Order: sequence, then structure tokens, then C-alpha cells
Amino acid sequence: MNESVFQAPLPERLAAVRAGIADAAAAAGRSADEITTIVVTKFHPASLIEELAGLGVRDVGESRHQEAQAKAAELAHLGLTWHFVGQVQGKKARQVRAYADVIHSLDRESLAAALASEESTVDCFVQVNLTEDPARGGVAPERLEALVGQVLTTPGIRLLGLMAVAPIGAEPRRSFARVRELGDQVRRLAPEARFLSMGMSSDYADAVAEGATHLRIGTAITGNRPAHG
Ligand SMILES: *Cc1c(COP(=O)(O)O)cnc(C)c1O
Repeated sequence: MNESVFQAPLPERLAAVRAGIADAAAAAGRSADEITTIVVTKFHPASLIEELAGLGVRDVGESRHQEAQAKAAELAHLGLTWHFVGQVQGKKARQVRAYADVIHSLDRESLAAALASEESTVDCFVQVNLTEDPARGGVAPERLEALVGQVLTTPGIRLLGLMAVAPIGAEPRRSFARVRELGDQVRRLAPEARFLSMGMSSDYADAVAEGATHLRIGTAITGNRPAHG
């Protein structure tokens, strides 16, 4: 059989990733219980999320607002935890907040202001941009402390910690070590903001080694994303 077209069934892929996470945690002297695996299901139909829920997945991640909103509504009965991992437009912020349990991409003061609430609290990660390209999403490391300062004074936002994507072409382990150091800085301002959302299909073992608490894993579990235009 041609390896490149063969895809193992979903339960096997999920089990393989879970085993990989357990191995990475053991190698780092960590307990896998302290690591939350978010299955990123963007571009996949709601039926795939139902299947995942049947296999015990509780945390799912989406990156496109309209798609996420529709799936969260359709699958509300499953009681899943919805993580929004994509860029958030200011004018959509309140809508995202309405279905997302956790927002991983808080990256600017204006977005913090748009997410403010006196009625309810949403869990957020501040996203750090490790590239030189401002279009990638995330706050520049040199502006991180100022943003965190504002987030901490915004009602209705609970800061969990930092989120980052390892830049293409860089050594992922070094990128994640940088995020861990930035996280240590943040904890001097906010001791409870101790979580790190980092690590995807190709680099989650490096992320676990550097202290990731939330992995965002798509294709390694779901298989290739359906074609999209
Ligand atoms: C799509 C996506 C992921 C998952 O990527 P894979 O390489 O498929 O594991 C993780 N984080 C973010 C922000 C994403 O957009």
C-alpha cells in the first residue's frame, strides 16, 4: 500500500498521539495529566467532532469564527470545551466570546477592550508572535508586558498564560523555550497565569519538553484537512 495515501482510522491516530504525548511527558519527567490536548478541527465537519467526542475528546479547537460558531451551536449538547485559536476580529470579539470557553489569541489592547465584560469571565491566553511578520498574529515580545498589564485590569478576562506557534524554519524547541521564559516574566505580574498553549502536530514533543500545558493538535489526529478555497 502506498504510505502517502494511507490514513489510519481516527481511533488509531488519536491513540498514537496520546501515546506520543505520554512518552514526551515521561521523557520530561512530567505527568501527562497536567497536559490538555485540544483537537483542532477547523475545516472538518461537525460529524468528525461527534466522532472525537465518542472517543473521549473533551477539548476542541477552531480558528474561523463563522465555522466555529455554527459547530458550537450544532454540538452544544455534547458539552465540549471550545477553544478559539485563530485571529479574532475586533468587531466579532463579543460573538466569539459567546461560544468560546477559551480564547488563545488575545494579542492587542483593542481586543482586550472588546472582550471586556462586567457579567461573565472568559479564559484567555495572550498570543506571542515569534516571527518578524506582524500579520502572523500575536503581540511582539517587547510589547508583551504592556499588554498583560492591560489584560489584568480588564474586567471579564481571566489570563491563563501564553500561546505561541513555532515559526516555520526555526528550531521548535528553541522557540518553545523562549515562550517558557516569556511565561516566567508574565508570572511575575500574574502568578496564576501559569499555562502555556504551544505545540502542534509536528512539534508537540518539543513543546511538552519545554513545559506546554495545552497542545493544539490537528492533522496528526484528524488526518488531512478537507480541501478549502
Ligand atoms: C490549525 C492550527 C493548529 C493545528 O495544526 P496542525 O499542524 O494540524 O496540528 C494549531 N494551532 C493553530 C493556531 C492552528 O491554526
